[in-house]
This record gives sequence, structure tokens and C-alpha cells, in this order.
Amino acid sequence: MPYADFNRPSTVAALEGHDVCIIGAGAAGILLAIRLTSQNRKVLLIESGDLVPDEEKQALNEIEQTAKQMRDPVWNRKRIVGGTTTAWGGQSLPFSPLDFVRRDWVTSSGWPIEYGDVAKYYDAANAFLHVDNWNYDSDLLTRFGVKYPLIEGGVNYHFSKWAPEPNLHKLYRRDLKKNVTVLYNAHLVRIDLHENGRVQSLSIANFVGFIHRLSVGEVILAAGGIETNRILLLNDHQVAGGLGNHSGWLGRAFMDHPSIVGGTIVPNDLKQFQSLFGTRVYRRRRYSTRLSAPTAWQKKNQLLNVSATFLFPYPDGLSDPFHAIKQLSRQKRIKAVFEVIRHFPKLTQSALALAMHGYLYKPGSSAVFGMNVEQEPLFGSYIALAKSRDQFGLRKASLHWTISEKSWQTAVLFAKRVKVELERANLATVQLNPQLYAKNLDWENQFSDVNHHMGGTRMSSVASQGVVTPDLQVWGIPNLSVASCSVFPTSSHSNPTLTLLALCERLSERMKKSMLPRILSRLLD
Ligand SMILES: Cc1cc2nc3c(=O)[nH]c(=O)nc-3n(C[C@H](O)[C@H](O)[C@H](O)COP(=O)(O)OP(=O)(O)OC[C@H]3O[C@@H](n4cnc5c(N)ncnc54)[C@H](O)[C@@H]3O)c2cc1C
Repeated sequence: MPYADFNRPSTVAALEGHDVCIIGAGAAGILLAIRLTSQNRKVLLIESGDLVPDEEKQALNEIEQTAKQMRDPVWNRKRIVGGTTTAWGGQSLPFSPLDFVRRDWVTSSGWPIEYGDVAKYYDAANAFLHVDNWNYDSDLLTRFGVKYPLIEGGVNYHFSKWAPEPNLHKLYRRDLKKNVTVLYNAHLVRIDLHENGRVQSLSIANFVGFIHRLSVGEVILAAGGIETNRILLLNDHQVAGGLGNHSGWLGRAFMDHPSIVGGTIVPNDLKQFQSLFGTRVYRRRRYSTRLSAPTAWQKKNQLLNVSATFLFPYPDGLSDPFHAIKQLSRQKRIKAVFEVIRHFPKLTQSALALAMHGYLYKPGSSAVFGMNVEQEPLFGSYIALAKSRDQFGLRKASLHWTISEKSWQTAVLFAKRVKVELERANLATVQLNPQLYAKNLDWENQFSDVNHHMGGTRMSSVASQGVVTPDLQVWGIPNLSVASCSVFPTSSHSNPTLTLLALCERLSERMKKSMLPRILSRLLD
């Protein structure tokens, strides 16, 4: 029974007897399902969504917001097999060593594991996304034949990599079909513990009024950054405040990457500038340039991690030759053909730059840079339960998202740094976003969110300071683990999913090691 629609309850008998139940078929759930079946475990992957987008399921993402507003919380996570990878960009970038250490100047910073504990799984995580394993700076610079364009040490110059097929369900459908039971239209509504403290059963509802109580072995929550928190909070019938809330940290230290435009750039030579900071294409894979804050800069200024990315928009979308090509591929109408012909000279220049120098050149575009900033993990930035309820009668999540002023100070100073470096290298003049140097009392609202939901079930070395152990097991519940960015104690500036996948690789390896003792203990029980 590889794929089963839970809206047809005839499937129930075949659901018993799985070794591992994973909740959520997004990036984390899919990776773990594939890895754990390769360890000869029987895996049941339980997903609220359908195989296709469905508004009824999407509505389960509705939340209440009581502080800084996230733009669109219903849209920014996907309820479908494949999860949010059906909509994300697939941009991957590792965290840096400083992100893992305790920094005196950053509240609640420090992971209970070291950079090396995660870094050794980055290759496997890259491979899972089908991106290459070259390092993110010098290896790629060599391959692109580009010299480091700025004075070394001023800012870190490196790349991010784009997954060639971001939709992980498309990529792994065959493997899932062959080895995993994927139960869709199946929504986890309740977790019950045995008196020995282990999870005993999960109650799974379909969308036509049927609920089944399922006995389970191992359970992994991979329900995304917000929903994983909500599931644990909702299950407060046996543990006050929700499962894993012994320390009061459950739901706390919610983070995103506050994002803001740093400034507009007037390059001295637009083409040369784009060859250094535009999107690169190598062996049909895309790479974007990033400038990030060096460790020494963060330490000296007692600020957070941050990076800048470059965009080359056309002020009026109609003059965008790439847009014309996209329209043609979508519409296949005569008007779209004329648009492409109108842009022929620009397209020829772009095609030449791509063929000869490997970058996407946008002739006549403007240039701006945006920044993604780390956010301090504040106890006062949290997910709780709202009063309003969803279609299953369960309380929705209530988000109280707050950011400390350190993120703002970081953005202000780093934008100036980028300006200084680009101007010193004689590449461009930069006009900073006026909001950044005005005395801005409303600084928090200048930031927008970027759909990177982290924190709430932070990992900790002692139970009193977090929700999950360094091995991602919920403290005190031996057969319940969390595989979500919600376990991140701090957020870096990097897109989070590569690090999530590395943690999932690590979890699957840990589970492999613990298999034999568990089998023995079951036999002895
Ligand atoms: C537009 C956009 C662009 C992005 N771009 C990038 C990027 O370039 N790089 C990057 O690193 N990150 C990016 N992100 C963030 C990235 O998508 C997430 O970090 C990542 O997908 C999280 O994976 P996940 O498996 O934890 O959660 P999800 O992919 O959200 O999967 C969780 C799954 O759990 C299911 N679920 C939830 N609750 C239940 C329940 N009670 N019962 C059963 N199933 C349940 C959901 O339906 C969902 O399918 C982007 C996000 C968006 C929205």
C-alpha cells in the first residue's frame, strides 16, 4: 500500500505494524522516510494535505497574530504531499561555525552540538537536494573563473546553490512509492502517552469525519516550523502546557530572518557588476552571490549574522526580456512572440554572456541589494494557542513574533559595510535605504518575513533549557523526535532547509545506531 488516501477508510487495517510514523511529508519527512526505509524499517508517512493543492487543507494554516505581522501565514507553508518544497526556491546555504557557539552578546545563543556535528552531514544533504558538493566559496570561484572581487576580510564573498528540482515530492515520488506507506488526507489530531512515558498512539482524522487511533513505535514530528509547535502545545491532556513543555520553552524563541532592502546600487559597469554579483549558471545549475558578515566583524561590533543578496530588477516589468520569454512559454500567443522579438537585442546580449561567461546578464536593469538578518532567540517571541479553532475543533496557533533591536543595528551597520566595500573596490556607488539611517522608531516594521520559520522546540543540553535533546528526542519521551527548523536554537542568516536536512541525516544515523539495543529491549519486554 504505497500511497493511500485516508479519505477512503478501507485502508485502516494496513496502517498498523509500522516501525516509524512520520508526521508531515515535507522536506524533512521525505528525507527521513527514505533514509529509514533503507535501514529496513517500515515507515508510515502521514500527511494532512492531498496530492494536489487544496484550499480546505491550506486553511489549516490559519493563525492569529498578536505582535509583528507575518505577511501571509496561510500561503507561506503548504499542506500537500511535498510540503513547502512545492513552493520554495530550493536555495541552499550552510550555517557558519560562529552560529553554533555561545556568544556573550547574543541572548540564549549556543547550540548544544558543534558546527562539525552538523557540517559532516552537509554533503549528504546537498546530495539529497541534487546540488553539488563543492564548497560554497573557493571551489565555485575557481570553477567560474572569477577572482575574489573585494578586499578579503571586509565581507565574505560566497555563493548559495539552487536545487535543480526544488519539489522534493516530484524528485522522490518513485522511492516513496516503492518503499514507504504515504497516507495523505490524514491529519494528526492527538497524541497519547503510555504510563511509561512513551507515545502509545496517534489519532489520525480524515476530512470526511472519520478518526482512527493508531498504535505506534517511533514517532517523528516533521510538520514544519509552526505546526510542530502547535501539535506539541495542543497535546496538553497528559502533560501540563503540552508535550515537551517541562521547561516552559515550548513555543518560545520563534525566529524568521528579518529582511530589508539595503540600498540601490549604481554600478560603474553594469555588465561587469552582474558578472560578479548576478546569478551564475554552471552545468545547468544556478548559483547566487552572497556577501555575509565575517566572524571578526560580528565579534567586534557585538552584532548578529547577516548577508546581502543582489537583485537586478527592471523598474517597469515590461522591459524585462526574461519576463517576455516566460510569458511566451506560458501563453504561446502571437503577442508574446512580438514581445520576444522586441527584446531580441537584449536577449542576444544575455545569451552571449551566458554562453561565454556563465552568468545571467540583464542589460539595462537597475540594481539593489537586500539583507537577511539573524534574529536573537527571544523568550518573548513565541507560538502559543489561539482562542479560535480550526475545522477539527483544535485551537489554532497564535504567533507573537518579536525581534530585538540588535537585528536592526546589524542591518544598519552591515548595509554601510556593503556600501563601503563596493565603493572601495570601485565597482559602484551605493545609495543606502533612507530608512536605515533615519532615526527610525518604527524599525521593527521595516523588516519583512521570508518564510523561514525556526525555533519553538529548541534543542538543549539539559532538559531545563529546551524542548528536545541534542539527538532531537523530546526530553522525557523516548520514542518522540522532532525534525523541523523549530529545533534550531539560533537562526544564522542562511536559508534554513539545508541545515534541517543535515540534522535529519544525523537523526537517521542515530536511529540506525540505536536499532539493535531497541530490538533487544523489545524482545526482553
Ligand atoms: C516561497 C518560499 C520560498 C522558500 N525558499 C526557501 C529557500 O530557497 N531555501 C530554504 O532553505 N528555505 C526556503 N523556504 C523555507 C522552506 O520551504 C522550509 O524551511 C522547509 O520547506 C521546511 O520543511 P519542513 O519539512 O520542515 O516543513 P513543510 O515543508 O512545511 O512540511 C510540513 C508538512 O507537514 C504537514 N503537516 C502539518 N501538520 C500536520 C498534521 N497535524 N498532520 C499531518 N500532517 C501535518 C504539512 O501539511 C506539510 O506538508 C521557503 C519557503 C517559502 C514559503
